[in-house]
Amino acid sequence: MARYIGPVCRLCRREGMKLFLKGERCHSEKCAIEKRNFPPGQHGKDRKPKIVGYGLQLREKQKARRYYRLLEGQFRNIFERAVRQKGVTGENMLNMLERRLDNTVYRLGFGTSRAQARQLVRHGHLQVNGRRVNIPSFSVRPNDVIEVREKSKSNPTILAARDATAHAPSPNWLEVDRDNLKARVLQHPKREDLVQIQLNEQLIVELYSK
Ligand code: SF4
Repeated sequence: MARYIGPVCRLCRREGMKLFLKGERCHSEKCAIEKRNFPPGQHGKDRKPKIVGYGLQLREKQKARRYYRLLEGQFRNIFERAVRQKGVTGENMLNMLERRLDNTVYRLGFGTSRAQARQLVRHGHLQVNGRRVNIPSFSVRPNDVIEVREKSKSNPTILAARDATAHAPSPNWLEVDRDNLKARVLQHPKREDLVQIQLNEQLIVELYSK
């Protein structure tokens, strides 16, 4: 599946906030948002557009899509599936985004960013319920056991990520055994567990419902 391979700090600058796309750098003073928090481009510094209506909805959708590192088609598919589920569409959508295996591995701290977590999954370093899974969009469920595969437990990238993220609290919906690089899904993520950023999912629902 295709993925965005362009510069990522400009995505944060476009949204005017940290989207945490670059691992440890996002928590350092090298972060582009700390140094130049204005939109990218030649005239980014001068333009101060007033965003209303459709613009607000679009920015909210782009923010969520970029935060979860998805392309438009992938994001739209998740929304369509969320619409077909019972309950509140926006919350269903965030729940599905959060339960993607690449996001879950990132939340567990086995990768310092979603991009790195996605690569770990693609390269076959993870297993779910004892079976190797290399599909980043795989959806984890309550009681699933996610584990770094035995032969990858000495992988320096994974160990470095685990140490670098040791300070970050684990989400309530996951039980993490960091020493053994293993975790269990306790429950579906709740709305308050879902995102590190301010996000109004209702605006995304309104945008796609036009
Ligand atoms: Fe770059 Fe991370 Fe800062 Fe975003 S939060 S601008 S990805 S360093």
